[in-house]
Parts: sequence; C-alpha cells; structure tokens
Amino acid sequence: MSRLSHAFLIVVSGPSGVGKTTLVERLLASDRLVRRSISATTRTARSGEVDGRDYFFIARDRFEAMKNGEFAEWADVHGALYGTPKEFLQRELDGGRDVVLNIDIQGANQVKRSFPGAVMVFILPPSFNDLEARLQTRGDVSGETLKVRLANARKEIAAGATYDYLIVNDSVERASSELAAIVTAERCRRERQARDLVSELSR
Ligand code: 5GP
Repeated sequence: MSRLSHAFLIVVSGPSGVGKTTLVERLLASDRLVRRSISATTRTARSGEVDGRDYFFIARDRFEAMKNGEFAEWADVHGALYGTPKEFLQRELDGGRDVVLNIDIQGANQVKRSFPGAVMVFILPPSFNDLEARLQTRGDVSGETLKVRLANARKEIAAGATYDYLIVNDSVERASSELAAIVTAERCRRERQARDLVSELSR
C-alpha cells in the first residue's frame, strides 16, 4: 500500500513502571503502518524477554564499538547502556513505515535533534503513589533498583514538560486510544502529506 503521507518517528517516554511497553504493544497491534524499534542494551534479559524481539542483549564492549556511528541515540539509563540502531530507523522510514521508540528522555532529546519531525509523547502516571505501587508489584525490580528508579522518576516526570503530547495512563484503554489518535492526527498534518493536496484539488 502506498502512503499519502511521509512516515515519521513516534518517541514514547515516561518514568519506569508507567506502562509504556503495554501502550506501545497496543499501538503496534492496532496500526499496521507502525513498526517498533528494537534497542540494544547491556542489561541482562528479564524472564520472558527474548533476544532480538524485546532487545538485542549485547556485551558492553560490543555496545562501546557500536557507539562509533551505529546508534541514532544512546544513553546510560539506571546504570545500563541502551541504544537505538540507526539503520533500522532509516530503512523503515524510507519504506513508508512509522517507527515507535520506547526510549528515555536523554535519548529522546538526541532523536529530536536528528529527526526534527519526530512526534514526542510522554506517558504520566495518575499520581506518584500509583507509580510507586506499580513498580513494587512489577516483581522484577526490587531493593536498591526500586529506590534508584523512584528517585529518577521525579526528574523524568519533570522532563515531560518539553514533549508535544502528554497521556495520563489511568486507564490502559483510554491511554491507548489517545496514543492511536495522536498517530492518526499526525498523519493528517499538512506538512507530512506527500503531495500538495490542497493546491491539486483547488486548481
Ligand atoms: P527497561 O530496562 O525497563 O526495559 O528500560 C529502562 C528504560 O530504558 C526505559 O525508560 C526505556 O524507555 C529506556 N530505553 C529502552 N531502550 C532505550 C534506547 O534504545 N535508548 C534510550 N535512550 N533509552 C531506552
């Protein structure tokens, strides 16, 4: 199917535990023009995570080598390194597919500089207590990690002020329909149209 509008990046950020991964999965399930960027990371896989599907789990020395030009952005998040392979982004955009990136705020800023048309979406919890409770019940994050993530969460939430869109994840249904609506609206932006439809049709 050929598209009338140019493909773009959708950057989704938000504090750890806010539900970004679920929202991204739902977007992918409901919109066949969107692909997910698979990041490389030096952290170890959690139970249920699959190499090449959830992340590319790589050693630190391999990551260091990739920093010489293979990433569109990379960052140190909670003590592990994460990066977005650049080649995949360009290939998908050139092929007319939008790409969604679930990345932290440091990486998001780098992406916005390289791809100014990127759509920046920040996911907020309904309250800080709610976020804390979600992180505690997630099970895979405990003790020191939990403390670090909570301390970082307030700083991360403050960064939401610079994003284009805010979504409060108090209901997964509503939050996912808001994310889908943002993508749909962005596709309709005049500057993303592949042809100058207004002049063509008003001639
Ligand atoms: P987790 O380890 O829980 O999967 O992810 C931790 C954080 O790293 C999340 O905030 C996630 O958005 C971020 N993250 C995942 N992949 C990337 C990436 O490629 N680049 C950057 N900058 N952040 C990432």
